[in-house]
Amino acid sequence: MPKQIDETHDPKLESWVESANDPETDFPLQNLPFTGMLVELSDDDGPASDLTIELCVLLGDMMIDINALAEAGQLNGLIPELPELLYVPTSAVFIPSFRAALRKRLVALFGVSVDRGVREKISKDCLVPADDVQPLMPFLPPPDYTDFYASVHHATNVGSMFRPDNPLLPNYKWIPVGYHGRSSTVVPSGVSVRRPVGQTAPAEEGGAPGFGSCRMLDYELEMGVIVGAGNEIGEAIPIERAEDHILGLCLLNDWSARDMQKWEYQPLGPFLAKNFATSVSPYIVTMEALAPFRAPRFERPAGDPAPLPHLDCDRDREAGALDITLEVFLQTAEMKKRGLSPHRLSRGNFKDMYWTVAQMLTHHASNGCAMRPGDLLGSGTVSGPTRDSRGCLLELTWDGDPWANPPVKASGAERTPIELPSGEQRKFLEDGDEVIIKGYCERDGFRRIGFGECRGVIKPSKKG
Ligand code: MN
Repeated sequence: MPKQIDETHDPKLESWVESANDPETDFPLQNLPFTGMLVELSDDDGPASDLTIELCVLLGDMMIDINALAEAGQLNGLIPELPELLYVPTSAVFIPSFRAALRKRLVALFGVSVDRGVREKISKDCLVPADDVQPLMPFLPPPDYTDFYASVHHATNVGSMFRPDNPLLPNYKWIPVGYHGRSSTVVPSGVSVRRPVGQTAPAEEGGAPGFGSCRMLDYELEMGVIVGAGNEIGEAIPIERAEDHILGLCLLNDWSARDMQKWEYQPLGPFLAKNFATSVSPYIVTMEALAPFRAPRFERPAGDPAPLPHLDCDRDREAGALDITLEVFLQTAEMKKRGLSPHRLSRGNFKDMYWTVAQMLTHHASNGCAMRPGDLLGSGTVSGPTRDSRGCLLELTWDGDPWANPPVKASGAERTPIELPSGEQRKFLEDGDEVIIKGYCERDGFRRIGFGECRGVIKPSKKG
C-alpha cells in the first residue's frame, strides 16, 4: 500500500537547522533520507583500521547521527517494547513501524517548536556537517542487485536499433524484464569508474572478435529501489503488500559498455558490459517521504494487454507511479579546466515507466525467489516519449524515432554527436568525463524534496 500523507508532510514545517529551510534544498524536514557515515571502530571493538557505516539521516546540510541521538536518550519510547533505546543498528530501518515512528520523532526534535535545552544538546552532540564526512549509502555492497528494463520508451528505442521492424519482444508487456547484476561492483557516488576492457564484435562476419578498451562507454539514468523487509524462499510477495517490502529509492547509474554489450547479449542478456560498475547516490529517500508524489500508473496505449492479475491491483493502478523529475549532466575534463558548468543532457520523469516498483518487486518474488533486506533493484533506463528525455547516450545520439508515424529508421552507425559548451562533441563518454544525475519531486501544496546527486568520473582503462 502506498504510504499515507500525514503531519510529517506539512509544507509549513520548518527546522531550527537553517539550511533545511532553504527553498532550493533537496533535504528539508519533510524528506529525512537515510544515509551513512564511515566511522573507525574504537580499540575495544577491534583493530583501529576497522571501519563501519553508522546510520544517519540528512537534514539540510547536516548529518543527524542516529546513534548519538539514541545515546542522548532522544529516541526513548520509540518502540513500546523498548522504553530505553541506546543503540540503533542500521537494520532497524527495514522495520516499517520503526521507520514511521523515527520520522515523527525527528520532525518533533528538529522542528522549530522543540525545547531550547534539547535543541542545544542535540545540536552539540548529534549533528555533523555533511561537508566534513563522506555521506554514504548505508547498504554497500547490497546483498544482491537486479536490473530491470521498465521503460517502454527505452526498450522501444534500443530495440528498434537492433530490430527495426520488431523493436519489442513479445514478453515485454507481460513481464517486467530484468537480469541479475553484480553487487560486488556497486560503488558509491563520487568513486571514479575505470573504462572496461572486453571483447567486441568481429569487424567482418566470420572474423575473430576484438579485445581491448571499450570504445562505446555509456551511462544509464536509473532509479535504485532498496528492498526493506524480505520474503522467505518459496513465498511470493502479493502486489497489494509489495510496497511494505520497499525501504525507499536512490539515484543509480548503470554504466554500460555498448560495444561489448552488442557482442555478448544474446542469448542470455547483459553480462560483462554491465557488471564492471554501478554507481548509487548516498541517500535513500523513503517511501514515507515520497507519499505526496504518487501518480497513476503509466496508462497503457489502447491495444496493450492488461497486466496479469498477480501484477495488478487498484492501488497500483491509481497511485503506483512516482512523480520524480530526473536530470543528467555531463562535465568533461576540458569544461572543468575552463570553469564551465556541467551541461544538461536530458530531463525525464520516473512516472513514465511502463512497470511500477511494486510490479517489479512482485514479479521478482513471484517464483519464490527470496529478496533480502538491502537488496538493490535498478529500474532500467528512465526514458520518456521525447528526444530530450532519453536516459542514455545510446538513445540521445541516435537519429531514429520509433514513435514517429511512420517510424523513422536509422542504423546504429548514424549518430549525431552532442555539442558541448566547450566546443567538444560526444557520441559516447571519453576519459575524464563526469556524469552527474539529479532527481527531485515537486507538487503544488507540498514541500519540494530531492535525491541529491549520483556522480562518477571515467578514468582510463588499465593497460594490461
Ligand atoms: Mn540498466
